[in-house]
Amino acid sequence: MANLDVIVLGLGGMGSSAIYHLAKKGVKVLGVEQFTEAHSLGSSHGKTRLIRKAYFEHPDYVPLLHRSYELWEELEKESAQKLFHKTGLTIFGRPDSPILMGIKNSRDKFQLTLNELNLEQSQEWNSSFKIPNSFIGLQEPGAGFLEVEKCISAHLKIATQMGAQLRFEESCLSWGIEGEKVWIQTKTEKITAKKLVITAGPWTSLLLKDLNLKLQIHRVTQFWFRKKDRSTVNHIKSCFAFDMPYGFVYGFPPYSGSRDFKIAIHKPGEKIRNLDKLDRKIKPQDIGELIPFLSAVMPEIDPNPTEGSVCMYTMTPDEHFIIDRHPNFDQVLFAAGFSGHGFKFSPIVGRILSELVIDNSSKDLTRFIKLRPEVLSSIA
Ligand SMILES: Cc1cc2nc3c(=O)[nH]c(=O)nc-3n(C[C@H](O)[C@H](O)[C@H](O)COP(=O)(O)OP(=O)(O)OC[C@H]3O[C@@H](n4cnc5c(N)ncnc54)[C@H](O)[C@@H]3O)c2cc1C
Repeated sequence: MANLDVIVLGLGGMGSSAIYHLAKKGVKVLGVEQFTEAHSLGSSHGKTRLIRKAYFEHPDYVPLLHRSYELWEELEKESAQKLFHKTGLTIFGRPDSPILMGIKNSRDKFQLTLNELNLEQSQEWNSSFKIPNSFIGLQEPGAGFLEVEKCISAHLKIATQMGAQLRFEESCLSWGIEGEKVWIQTKTEKITAKKLVITAGPWTSLLLKDLNLKLQIHRVTQFWFRKKDRSTVNHIKSCFAFDMPYGFVYGFPPYSGSRDFKIAIHKPGEKIRNLDKLDRKIKPQDIGELIPFLSAVMPEIDPNPTEGSVCMYTMTPDEHFIIDRHPNFDQVLFAAGFSGHGFKFSPIVGRILSELVIDNSSKDLTRFIKLRPEVLSSIA
């Protein structure tokens, strides 16, 4: 552990990418993770994550997505495995829906490929779905899904090949500054390095108490379903989403021999004040609005899920990310508050963090993902 350059604290979606980029740049780096590799106790599990470029959340994300797409492709080549399934994604909603208008806004600003469904394509969807009459569909052919746990493991594997050291099942209890350096205290050891990168997901506020960050943790669920008639052929090979009055429902087609559609609502659930008390068991009421959705829009699906999983969102008040340097300690960088839409960005987030560590700046660190007044209650 002597002469470490950087410690990366938390090896989930963002930390696994940060350590990969740092190791690739020849930095002597140690990753510390409280649980096991690609575990299912944080925010980066559940087999799949959507990835898309026509970003309704804000067009400023599109340049970051261009770079993320390139980096996912690079990681696939380096790890010699498929991580990104370019199935396409069709988002359905009323023409005046803010989500659909946001998608078109990003398309227009960045000339993205996006097709409004024609009659024939709509009929094809209607052979399996019951699309509400007032809805139109916007299809993004280059979108799709990432295999979330495989992505984390791929980043970590390449990082170790480049010399990074990893410690699992080792929790950081505290950290501090000593002269120019920074230390972390685990159960067994005090480890010192030149810099610290905190990518602790829902646990971030516990490690950055002095910043009083406005981060709210929410319990969210994801489910897997099968068709009622298991003998029928599945025509849907693409990801899909519906802007319904009760929330943004999204889904993934079965893949790699599975028969299960994953379906979930992108909506922060119950607020979690104590992470140790998070109820990780699926309850019957968790399925909530998915039942009316399935009966109205996907009547061929059996509403009894084959599987369900509890996950967490870490929300900022404006739902944009925080990636920056600690305002009081130059040696400490952090990335948090991914507000339920961060995974697709993990390669670029890791690269931004590595640039902040090595070059002290990153051209990709835009105004709205920096540490900003809206996300700080007050700086102690
Ligand atoms: C159900 C669900 C669906 C989602 N769907 C999408 C989607 O379709 N597309 C998309 O882009 N995003 C999606 N997201 C959001 C995305 O998954 C998250 O934004 C992203 O994975 C967050 O990554 P993270 O690294 O910040 O957190 P995590 O992956 O949780 O990583 C934090 C890590 O830090 C570790 N840690 C914390 N404290 C300590 C400590 N003291 N010592 C050691 N280790 C510590 C934790 O154990 C954990 O491994 C979804 C999220 C959920 C929950």
